[in-house]
Amino acid sequence: MSAQHPVVFVTRRLPEAVEARLTRDYTPVLNADDTPFGSADLVERVVNAGAEAVLCCPTDKMTADVIAGMPNKVRALATFSVGYDHIDLEAAKAHDLIVTNTPDVLTDATADCAMLLILAAARRAWAAESMLRRGDWSNWAPTGQIGIQVTGKRLGIFGMGRIGQALAKRARGFDMEIHYSDLAQLPPELEAGATFHADPEDLLGVSDVLSLHCPLTDETRHFLDARRIALMIDGAIVVNTARGPIVDDEALIVALRTGKLAAAGLDVFDGEPKVNPGYLELENTTLFPHIGSATKETRDAMGFVALDNLDAVFGGRTPPNRVV
Ligand code: NAP
Repeated sequence: MSAQHPVVFVTRRLPEAVEARLTRDYTPVLNADDTPFGSADLVERVVNAGAEAVLCCPTDKMTADVIAGMPNKVRALATFSVGYDHIDLEAAKAHDLIVTNTPDVLTDATADCAMLLILAAARRAWAAESMLRRGDWSNWAPTGQIGIQVTGKRLGIFGMGRIGQALAKRARGFDMEIHYSDLAQLPPELEAGATFHADPEDLLGVSDVLSLHCPLTDETRHFLDARRIALMIDGAIVVNTARGPIVDDEALIVALRTGKLAAAGLDVFDGEPKVNPGYLELENTTLFPHIGSATKETRDAMGFVALDNLDAVFGGRTPPNRVV
């Protein structure tokens, strides 16, 4: 570690290989006990560290106040995520702060997670396994734990970007028919036979399974509310690996409770790590604690991409994944 290496404040514990590279190339201030910082605490620590960059995570709420509290010597905010809804980009721009993210490297892991949730929700994975673990499995039954077969079903993808397209690829392997909605239609080579619905509400009416893959923005917040759920096919499945607030929890819980929807697979939650208790009471939910990108390969790669971005900032180059 050399004194002239830029000081990087790291808000959470990162994979060992990533912290090793940080320690080799920077003067990092690490968070060994991994407790997320509150806003005021975070600002104070960044100031006290004399940081020139902050490597943050989606658990850090980078509000206008937090960003305004950053000393001018902080040049960059590199988030260990592709999503940047936790960062006030306008405030970052106003503060001359470069913001970078980690796209692409987490696409496969997150698409795998979405496919896992589709299958788990369709096949009652949680309910069936819980029955076994409780010791309530008395014998194989022709009518026991009957789920929904995905073969030939229509998968509606809302937000056909990197992860949406990777999920489509996986779902084709399960003989699902792909439909999608996005801000714009994809070129034929990326669409790969999927059917585009310019109006997202048309997508709802054809989706046996709806999987959300858009970013969280003012436009997509509570996209899936009671009115839109009413437009969905009776007995459809909802999967969310994007961001919790894209769904109106109360509306989804009512739909799952009444049988309007058959099942849901959720990796992300509004207000996480708190989870609306209504989901916990339901047998037709499969609930993951935001593990979409949680593989060793992907988490290492996310850290390395975040560092590639910081290397570019401090090397006087344009970071490869600059958001603002
Ligand atoms: P991406 O490539 O940017 O894909 C998002 C797609 O949604 C883009 O095609 C985008 O269009 C589209 N979109 C934006 N606003 C929309 C709207 N109002 N209506 C319909 N479509 C809209 O991003 P990605 O890499 O696939 O990641 C998607 C999201 O997944 C991230 O933002 C993140 O929140 C979430 N994520 C979660 C996990 C997890 O651990 N569960 C892991 C990774 C990512 P434009 O390109 O035209 O804007």
